[in-house]
Amino acid sequence: MRVVAIDGPAGSGKSTVARAVAARLGLDYLDTGAMYRAVTFAAIRRGIDPEDAALVAELAREITLEVADQVVVDGADATIEIRSPEVTRAVSTVAANPDVRKELVARQREWARAHGGGVIEGRDIGSVVFPEAPVKVYLTADDGERALRRSREMIDLHYDQVAADIARRDHADSTRDVSPLDVAPDAVRIDTTLRPVDDIVQQVLDLVAVQEP
Ligand code: C5P
Repeated sequence: MRVVAIDGPAGSGKSTVARAVAARLGLDYLDTGAMYRAVTFAAIRRGIDPEDAALVAELAREITLEVADQVVVDGADATIEIRSPEVTRAVSTVAANPDVRKELVARQREWARAHGGGVIEGRDIGSVVFPEAPVKVYLTADDGERALRRSREMIDLHYDQVAADIARRDHADSTRDVSPLDVAPDAVRIDTTLRPVDDIVQQVLDLVAVQEP
């Protein structure tokens, strides 16, 4: 299966690069972070405490989820809502829930089967979800630049707030027990700090070309 795995922390440039690579290769694109955000959003909307592991896991198993250009949760468009500060604050707790991960990883594998592969971004795609992916990339960038990129996207939040939020999520995502943010041993690390997007996209396409001569 043709899977390009793109992992890395918040603000490392994953979404921008993954979308562009998918368009150039004619593959579909999956944002797995949006799936963890969608479950978090659904929990908050139903008044379920994100810390209640059993209830949140049950919710993850029963909701319908479409993640494409629009994110649709149980038939309702939640594209904007899943990016809210409230969801962003709670998502790491939901993502640390092993039963939620089990369910979403199964859905991610099913998505790839149904789409004939794809460009898939997240935190554990190369390390856990698709360890056999022929191309794995781990994007990084300086903390300051990551916070700057995110604060430009979130016009109503200050840089300091965004920087603190990213640092907290990095810590929670890297230290959780199940599938912590980690670099797969065979992933190529790319530092995106101060580099134009087109360069990074080309570098990833070159890696794909080496795999598929
Ligand atoms: O990519 P994004 O920042 O939207 O991801 C939101 C959160 O979802 C991350 O902070 C992380 O806790 C979780 N996540 C994950 N595994 C993935 C993708 C995202 O745990 N594959």
